[in-house]
Amino acid sequence: MALWLRRVSQLLAVGVVCAATLWPFYQVGQQQLTRSEQARIDAQPGVSRSSYQPRLDQLQQTADFSTLASTEMAGRRPGQPGSELARQFLQRRFTELGLIPIVAAAGTDGFAQTYQTDGQSDGVNFIGKINGTAAQLPAIVVTAHYDHVGVHQDRMFPGADDNASGVAALLALAAYFQAHPPRHSLIFAAVDHEEQGMHGSKQLFAGKLLQPKQLALNVNLDMLSRDTKAQLFAVGTYQYPALLPLLQPLQQGSLVALKFGHDRPAAVAGRVQDWSDASDHGSFAKEGVPFVYFGVPDHPDYHQPTDTFERADIGFYHKVSDTILSALLLLDQADLSVLRLETKR
Ligand SMILES: [Zn+2]
Repeated sequence: MALWLRRVSQLLAVGVVCAATLWPFYQVGQQQLTRSEQARIDAQPGVSRSSYQPRLDQLQQTADFSTLASTEMAGRRPGQPGSELARQFLQRRFTELGLIPIVAAAGTDGFAQTYQTDGQSDGVNFIGKINGTAAQLPAIVVTAHYDHVGVHQDRMFPGADDNASGVAALLALAAYFQAHPPRHSLIFAAVDHEEQGMHGSKQLFAGKLLQPKQLALNVNLDMLSRDTKAQLFAVGTYQYPALLPLLQPLQQGSLVALKFGHDRPAAVAGRVQDWSDASDHGSFAKEGVPFVYFGVPDHPDYHQPTDTFERADIGFYHKVSDTILSALLLLDQADLSVLRLETKR
């Protein structure tokens, strides 16, 4: 063995001994961080109100939710017949809502942006806009993925909570803002291929359909209909601390327990999962666009054939949707340029 090789192997041996010695301390540290992060989340306000006057069209929203989660749409996997049905449905609903198609950019046909991905079936995003009353303001983009796992190894994954729930909420919010014009322009995007690499949301930028500098914020909706201790997470306040004073009023007098979390790295939050790249908002963050992601905690039916419409908690789902409407109304009134002033990634 050459001398330098001997030195390297000695150093490696020291490194292994050090790592083995430090490992238990790392484990204890992670446990402590996990406990304190959980305590921080638990200490945030819970539900304080149960009655409310619905502002969204709940009948239509429930119907859209059940249609997208139906066995005919069979989990909406790109390339399978159920996805084609979901695409026809979204084309019809975007048309009925009277959204403005963004037709100028390459690769779009009305609401539909078709794209190719290597080794996978073609994808289609649906994008429609509502013009804001303050034309100079950058737009807010509301996203929800409509694809899911589909039929896989002879089992059907209907993807009701994940993410028929988010798409039906997106449609209900679009209907609301058509009747109550926002200050910021709102772009509604039902995107494809989230489950297979977030290709749909990446294509919004790759296809030059959206310009990051012309966007104020992404509001991503993914999994809204399952009641786990009435919790709804807003993810992104760690990366964009200026979101906190904008959204904190929602925690008071809330229909659901709105919690800020699941956005901190392991060095801060231990083993509490970090969802800051877990869905399409990650594609916006990579482009430098601030995001807030709304979603419920994982549940036993997550990515299982049992994620069905029948298992959704419809009353809770409507309260979640109403809370997200309130969030959008607060955000629309705010100066969103503050979000980019201080960011942590
Ligand atoms: Zn999802």
